[in-house]
Amino acid sequence: EWLKIGQLSESEKFAEFDQDTLDLMVQEGIRFAIDVVSPTRSESDREGCRIEDGRVKVPKCLHEPYQQSYELGWASMGVSQEYGGMGAPATLVLIVNEAMNGANLGLSMFFGLTSGAADLIDTYGSDSLKQKYVAKMYQGKFTGTMCLSEPQAGSDVGAGTTSAESVEDGVYKIKGSKCWISSGDSDLGENVIHAVLARVKGAPDGTKGLSLFVVPHTRVNDDGSLGDWNDVTVVSIEDKLGIHASPTAVLNFGE
Ligand SMILES: Cc1cc2nc3c(=O)[nH]c(=O)nc-3n(C[C@H](O)[C@H](O)[C@H](O)COP(=O)(O)OP(=O)(O)OC[C@H]3O[C@@H](n4cnc5c(N)ncnc54)[C@H](O)[C@@H]3O)c2cc1C
Repeated sequence: EWLKIGQLSESEKFAEFDQDTLDLMVQEGIRFAIDVVSPTRSESDREGCRIEDGRVKVPKCLHEPYQQSYELGWASMGVSQEYGGMGAPATLVLIVNEAMNGANLGLSMFFGLTSGAADLIDTYGSDSLKQKYVAKMYQGKFTGTMCLSEPQAGSDVGAGTTSAESVEDGVYKIKGSKCWISSGDSDLGENVIHAVLARVKGAPDGTKGLSLFVVPHTRVNDDGSLGDWNDVTVVSIEDKLGIHASPTAVLNFGE
């Protein structure tokens, strides 16, 4: 009411989101967060994440709300209809996300990280990257991360030393260690797609010399099937007060 978001339906893009529709979606989104997601909060924090056979297992109770969030569209509200999302206005997405964050941040962070990485590839990636990753990420089949921080490069992100060496046209070998990587690995999706900052050999120091690479945990073949392990190792996960359901990982690339 205060934001007058009903006025958005005056634009062609959001014509179907009139005030009644928006009210209903806010009501249903909040109901989903309260009824389906929030009952998992304490249990998932108590159980926490663990590393088993080199991969992260999230608390068992997160799997069902994760699937339902994608099936019912709550995790992909802002995604365009071209990719099977609702194409909802950002204001509405933020309201429902706020409810999901309050219900269980350990779960909702997966949605934020994954859609962020998918948006990035959709906006700046080549056609082949888009084709391989974007739809599966928006559907929750693949999760996503952003790998910026390193032990000596937090606020000073330009101090990053992860390197990238060209092996063939458009393909690079990435080598280095990233820390504090939210949703860094899990068994919620079939694959994890990392957006990684690295410095191509010979590039200048500082932020100007950094480039961004798409590094899947498991390689994806041209026909969409999963290929070989891509040399991404989960070294450890942090023990964080009150948010044990979110795997914040140290990841090694290469070696
Ligand atoms: C729960 C959690 C999740 C995270 N998830 C991710 C993720 O998904 N991906 C990722 O890449 N990173 C992630 N991070 C890392 C986060 O981005 C870094 O922690 C952040 O950039 C700060 O870096 P730092 O921890 O090394 O602190 P530092 O950079 O060492 O800063 C320590 C303190 O010094 C202050 N400071 C630093 N530089 C200056 C300056 N020049 N002038 C004045 N004060 C300064 C800072 O404000 C801070 O108070 C996560 C961190 C946490 C805690």
